[in-house]
Amino acid sequence: MPKKLITELNGQRLKLSNLQKILYPSVGISKAEIIQYYIAVSPYLLKYLAGRPLSLIRAPDGIGLKQFYTKNRPGFTPDWMPSIFPPWDDENDYLYATEVQHIAWLANLAALEMHTSNSTLGDLDKPDFFVIDLDPSEDHTWDQIKALAIELKKYLRAQGLACFAKLSGGKGIHLRTPIICSRDYDAVTDRVKDLMKTFVRKHPQTTLRVHKDQRRGKILLDIYRNHPGNTIIAPYCLRARTGAPVAMPLSWTVLEAAESAQDFQLAGVIPHLEKHGDAWDGIGDSAMELFPAQGIYTASEAQAKNVKLTDYAEKRDFEQTSEPIPSSDPAVNGRFAVQLHDARNLHYDLRLGVDGVLWSWAIPKAFPSDQEASRLAIRTEDHPAKYIDFEGEIPAAEYGGGTMWLLDQGEFIWHKKEEKSLEFELKGSKLHGRYKLIHTRERQWLMRLVSAPRVKQTSFKPMLCASSNSLPTGKDLIYEVKWDGIRTLIYKDADETPLTIRSKSDRDISLQFPELIDPASVDARSAVLDAEIVCLDERGAPLFDQVISRLHRKIDERYMDSAGFRPKAYIYYFDILMLDGVDLTDFPMHKRHAILSAVIKRGEHFRVSDIFLDGQALYKSGKTMGLEGVMVKDKNGKYHPGRRTSDWIKVKYRQTIDAMIIGYTAGKGDRQSLFGALHLAQMQDDQWQYLGKLGTGFDHEKMREILAQLKALDEIKKPIDDKIEEESRTTWIEANLACEVQFASWTAKGTLREPVFLRMKEKI
Ligand code: MN
Repeated sequence: MPKKLITELNGQRLKLSNLQKILYPSVGISKAEIIQYYIAVSPYLLKYLAGRPLSLIRAPDGIGLKQFYTKNRPGFTPDWMPSIFPPWDDENDYLYATEVQHIAWLANLAALEMHTSNSTLGDLDKPDFFVIDLDPSEDHTWDQIKALAIELKKYLRAQGLACFAKLSGGKGIHLRTPIICSRDYDAVTDRVKDLMKTFVRKHPQTTLRVHKDQRRGKILLDIYRNHPGNTIIAPYCLRARTGAPVAMPLSWTVLEAAESAQDFQLAGVIPHLEKHGDAWDGIGDSAMELFPAQGIYTASEAQAKNVKLTDYAEKRDFEQTSEPIPSSDPAVNGRFAVQLHDARNLHYDLRLGVDGVLWSWAIPKAFPSDQEASRLAIRTEDHPAKYIDFEGEIPAAEYGGGTMWLLDQGEFIWHKKEEKSLEFELKGSKLHGRYKLIHTRERQWLMRLVSAPRVKQTSFKPMLCASSNSLPTGKDLIYEVKWDGIRTLIYKDADETPLTIRSKSDRDISLQFPELIDPASVDARSAVLDAEIVCLDERGAPLFDQVISRLHRKIDERYMDSAGFRPKAYIYYFDILMLDGVDLTDFPMHKRHAILSAVIKRGEHFRVSDIFLDGQALYKSGKTMGLEGVMVKDKNGKYHPGRRTSDWIKVKYRQTIDAMIIGYTAGKGDRQSLFGALHLAQMQDDQWQYLGKLGTGFDHEKMREILAQLKALDEIKKPIDDKIEEESRTTWIEANLACEVQFASWTAKGTLREPVFLRMKEKI
């Protein structure tokens, strides 16, 4: 074989060089064989190369040696090689090929790999296909990749799109979908991303995330080759990899039999093509519209909705708002979303997926919850499909400024779809039921409940917390004041009905706090809220004794004081469990708190417990203020009714214990008429564990109060075996009263060192 050869190809004189050079050492393939291959395959290859700017991988010294990637026309390029500066890159003059001699010249350059853009010289701004590169991780078998390719093909078919496969010649499979060349790269990449997001949701083994850590164990659906300037290996091109594998288009039937992405090497391609032909022949004829048609509706549908998303777009500045840009997607058909929107008024937004967009209504108050009630629903502009997942802050100056929370989404089915009357059934994870929307005039509709599954009346138990002696820290933790008062769940059942306040043991204590049961303080038709009722000193620190005295005050005393109720009670709301029949307990804590803040109409008595991010600062200032402690919450934690979890942790400044009073000693000196000390114990494994005597922390008034309670109890025989001080002066009583005691530490005997009385434990 001569080292150099001057030949003529298609009328073009061509100088070929270094022909004997082996470019694939392990299989002994020379440059001459490579040029021959490219010339032989050019009738097929040109269909895919012609008029597309190329980027090249060149290996003039053989694969693995000084292999490099290039897109700029080399200085020595002959004049007859065509090139162009594409609109996405004004630095590089991209070669392209339209004739066999162009291909031969590139092959002589040892441009083993030729990668094409998704658009042609016909209109470089507008792609005429998109690609999805199935990039396996080590955890997946070849058969799984093939199965996924078939799933993707079916999915795209269902969207009205064709899909062609080729072995990448590397590890994966490239899927190519021809599209009608009508929109720019940005529009196409957005649309492809939307389409694939829906696919990924249904196929958890896949991901769109490129980052190694995020795609671990998953098959990457690489959709990022559809950006302008990105290229993909052309069909029938060699790969610069050991064994001279070829990027090989295959029919779906042949693909099913393929054993790896490198099933075809240089030698096998031409015989296969001669026998089976080009598997992608006519691919361009299968080009379909990637963007679903808009504006094709029946007359009634056209009236029932705004036909296009122009209303939506005109109201918004997408530089400002994070709301989705207008685009439709048939994948949204038959799906619904309900959002809670804290705009000028707190309202619900109902969105039904029809014709690739979301028909939308704003519902100022809750959805109807019984067959009698009709609710006003204002038809708003159609929203883009993507809005079904939208949640976030809309800047105050923008249309609909305020926070939007996603409450529920799922499927729905139509029962009736007429011009002025719609009937549909929501099948969400929270919202179920069949509803009717009746058009009355202009944008006004009436919403009615047709039927709903019977929901059992929910009564909750408050969530409990773990405790810690030191302040936990972590990026997902938030901090609140630990309000020292009466823990309650507040129920709102209907618009005009006063709130019901229920204690931890589910006792109705509403009558004791008439100033706190104003239904207007909760901006919802119904709700279940978690809160603490407190009395406060002038600095805002809770006074436990006072709130307990409110709890015990007799009804006639309460109503006698026309000036109001003394001491004043306040309610600090810190969580929300239900809103207008929607269970929020599985939402993350930060979302519940944000919704709570929107629902509570703040006033002198009605407050929302603030969230602090700097736990140390709160802990320090709380200590100075004399607060009981700090609550630490996992901002992503759910609400676990009645359960104690480490999602909520209380950190108290003092070590405290709840102890039972099992006896008391007779008083002497100035306590002559009172008692001397209390004997404390704790039940452990059905046995009394004696905790010692408690003689400080109460004033005479408190002692008188306690003594009255002690005297009301039956006297019993000594219930413990321990030898104790002042046994002869002790009266033993049945254990029915508990108190909270602060103490310094435990003694070796298991009693409390330096105990101080804090309060009687109320069975609230
Ligand atoms: Mn809204």
